[in-house]
Amino acid sequence: MLPELLKKKSFFFHLYKIDKQIAEQYRAMPCPFCGDRLYCANYFRKPRGEPDGFPKEYFKRFSLCCGNQDCRHRVIPPSCRFMGRKFYWFPVIISVVSDIQGSILETGKFDPSGYLDISRNTLKKWLNFLQH
Ligand SMILES: [Zn+2]
Repeated sequence: MLPELLKKKSFFFHLYKIDKQIAEQYRAMPCPFCGDRLYCANYFRKPRGEPDGFPKEYFKRFSLCCGNQDCRHRVIPPSCRFMGRKFYWFPVIISVVSDIQGSILETGKFDPSGYLDISRNTLKKWLNFLQH
């Protein structure tokens, strides 16, 4: 039941480019804890719900680490691909929640069937989290 847009690698590529630009802006700023320089400390995530044949590069979570040995704080720039530690891509979560909310408004019922392999409890958590 995912919209066609979420099945296109090009959509995720654009989100990747936005995240990369945000990370570059954050990297140009000093450490918010000590004022020292920030360095790349990217890592890979394994979210679910992407199109088949997804390039590994898109799974990269941009992250920064302070260069000061006494600080070493990690700075994680905001992302339009990842939602905290959630296991699914942020646009997938938004799309599914939006779809379910529309269905609830139309029918008055919560119908979790047909949303990938996402459990009913996970869907309820997303609904609760995004309603507040
Ligand atoms: Zn620092």
